[in-house]
Amino acid sequence: MKVAVVKETAPGERRVALVPETVGRLRSAGLEVLAESGAGERAWFPDAAYAEAGAAVVTREELAADADVILTVSKPGSGLMPLLRRGQTVIGMLNPLTDPGLAADLAARGVTAVSLDGLPRTLPRAQSMDALTSQANVAGYKAVLVGAAEFGRFFPMLITAAGTARPAKVLILGTGVAGLQAIGTARRLGAVVSAYDVRPQTKTEVESLGATFIELTSVGSAAGEGGYARALTDAEREAQQAELAGHIARQDVVITTAQVPGRRPPLLLTQDALKAMAAGSVVVDMAASPLGGNVAESAPGETIVTDNGVTVIGAGNLAATVPGAASAAYARNISALLLSMVSDGALVIDTADEIQAGVVITHDGAVVHPATAALLADTAGGTTP
Ligand code: NAD
Repeated sequence: MKVAVVKETAPGERRVALVPETVGRLRSAGLEVLAESGAGERAWFPDAAYAEAGAAVVTREELAADADVILTVSKPGSGLMPLLRRGQTVIGMLNPLTDPGLAADLAARGVTAVSLDGLPRTLPRAQSMDALTSQANVAGYKAVLVGAAEFGRFFPMLITAAGTARPAKVLILGTGVAGLQAIGTARRLGAVVSAYDVRPQTKTEVESLGATFIELTSVGSAAGEGGYARALTDAEREAQQAELAGHIARQDVVITTAQVPGRRPPLLLTQDALKAMAAGSVVVDMAASPLGGNVAESAPGETIVTDNGVTVIGAGNLAATVPGAASAAYARNISALLLSMVSDGALVIDTADEIQAGVVITHDGAVVHPATAALLADTAGGTTP
């Protein structure tokens, strides 16, 4: 079986789905590996390193003609889509629930689509394949560095002959994977860190990282299913925003990471909360999206300074800005998933398997992932998802 890694083409995407180290691992499992020329160059993995690990370095056209399985980080770009052929498999972060049209297109081409973002994350044997976690870890780390770089003062307490600098006060809102990594990173830089999540069970994890957990009196637990949060009611949201504003006003740096599956990100920092912050404070919104983020003023990939001197950074694709570490982790995730689907040297699609039921989106010309199929049916019926 021939497995290929492509060069990503999305703007700003510097990651690569397979690094030379994992090429060796796939070769040991009896797979042939093809690498598109330049696939890893933006993550500092040159073609020569892939060749040394045993991959054949080829053009995109050669790759598309020869490969049985194509590995990507994000969606196949417009340069690759027309080259894909019936019976081929594409594995990547395809986000079928936000882009069901891509799934329909791949199904129409007879391509089997496998999407890492559908992985059942709480299944112990899926942990080595959990790319959402590995990439959120990288992004949470980088969010703190971005905030620290923009902040005009020190993070640690420094005692020097020229005076004593007090440590920065950093607040992390949302303590899932990214938030916990942000706490650890801010602590390692010497900041005084506090954190809040609407799932109170994260308190012990927050405290074990040396941060203070903020408990709101106006909002109780909003733990939802599968370890995720549920959406708040309007009344809960307003109470949360009002009570959080008092804590936010005292911070130097705020990093927001809150997400609710299938919903637009909750608004945690209102215009009023931003107005109450001191000049020179910095907000990094990791949830910034075209639909809105956790912060009133944020837009993905944009930095603005409010009239009262607060810098609001709408994080874009932060994991792609740490491409070496992000690619190495992603490559381990994707190769673990791939190898779990290989038997006797061939890919075996079996949607009765708990992992495959989550990740296999299209197969044999049809959209087989129930949630994606339902979304497409709703769209075709004129219902907006
Ligand atoms: P996520 O990206 O969906 O959300 C980030 C955080 O935002 C969550 O902690 C959530 O509770 C919080 N949040 C949502 N709405 C909020 C609001 N209004 N106010 C404050 N906070 C709000 O979460 P994630 O990082 O993907 O992790 C989700 C869960 O999955 C966690 O429980 C994590 O431990 C779990 N997980 C488990 C495994 C595993 O078992 N192997 C692997 C990965 C993640």
